[in-house]
Amino acid sequence: MRLKKKYKVILYVTLTLILGWILTVSGISAYKYLNLVDAYDFIVDGEVKYTIPSDQYDDLELLMKKYKMDFLSVSNISNSAKILSVEFKQDIQVVERKVEEEELDSIDDIALEFQKNEEEAIYHTIVENDNLWDIGVTYGMNLAKIVEYNPFLGAREEKDYMIWPKEVLLMKPANPVYDVVVKLQNTALEPVPFETIKIEDKNLFTSQRIILKEGIEGEKNVVYDIVMENGYATSIEAIQETILKEPVSAEVKVGTKRTLSYGGGNNYGVTTGRLTSGYGYRTHPISGVKTFHNGIDIAAPTGTGVYSYASGTVISVSQNNTLGKYIAIDHGNGLVTRYLHLSKFNVEKGDKVSTGDRIGSVGNTGYSTGPHLHFEVLKNGSYQNPWNYI
Ligand SMILES: [Zn+2]
Repeated sequence: MRLKKKYKVILYVTLTLILGWILTVSGISAYKYLNLVDAYDFIVDGEVKYTIPSDQYDDLELLMKKYKMDFLSVSNISNSAKILSVEFKQDIQVVERKVEEEELDSIDDIALEFQKNEEEAIYHTIVENDNLWDIGVTYGMNLAKIVEYNPFLGAREEKDYMIWPKEVLLMKPANPVYDVVVKLQNTALEPVPFETIKIEDKNLFTSQRIILKEGIEGEKNVVYDIVMENGYATSIEAIQETILKEPVSAEVKVGTKRTLSYGGGNNYGVTTGRLTSGYGYRTHPISGVKTFHNGIDIAAPTGTGVYSYASGTVISVSQNNTLGKYIAIDHGNGLVTRYLHLSKFNVEKGDKVSTGDRIGSVGNTGYSTGPHLHFEVLKNGSYQNPWNYI
């Protein structure tokens, strides 16, 4: 059958239009395909945040490396520490892809985001009559934490952590958009407490003791696993101990004649509780800084009784940033005992006390990270190992 001329024209026009459309679409696609560029997606926790041209890949690697390393340099970590890993807390992936040019971001966008914080740092500017004690109470942190955030204060330890008006203290570090977790291992030197061999003597009171042989603290290396986030420790865990020097036991003659008794726990005479830190040299698990612990720490709940080691005269009842509320008692013959971090006083300066008199209560005042009694013994002004006395 022959088509009428009119239909022939319609068919011709229609075919031409379809062909034209096919050519245009495929042409655009081909054009687009030829113009795709090599790029890298910067993916955070599975989400593409930025896409950068491939020639900026090396700069991105460098940017991320430098950002992570900056947290190492500000973290006050000992040179002897072994850095196990430095990683982003977020899952960050950089993955190659072909994209259209208009999809590209610049590395400057990422650099800017690396400077941003989710929460800004909180600072406190010292004003006249400020003291670290009250500042700590205001911000809900203890002195140990304030010193951790402001290491320059550590150098002023001897001078009761002196502060000056207009000085700026960091009270809370900024929380950056990208968190960096550093895992490290460090070995710290710590004392090993010696044991006291007690030889009973029925002619002496329970509060009396005579040193037959002085004990000597041992030394140990403790390996710590440490996790730091954005420059500050979030976990410090002792994983291994090696004894370097065995302690030498003390021999002490102790009385059995009973005059006093205190109930519960390990009775150290001056208080009851759990020994948490011995006397002697130790190194800080993070900074490696060597310090001398001039007393013993006995952890006990706030309010636990603190008793006079022996009879004597109360020579100071005072408080400062480091020692907290503290008492010193002079027992004569150059012997002085001190009781630190108390929550309460039961005596006043000048009071005469007898062995076992209640003088105060355990607390968490001053440079202290939990309720405990720090007990010191001084003979003619120099520190003695308290284990030779209690
Ligand atoms: Zn202590």
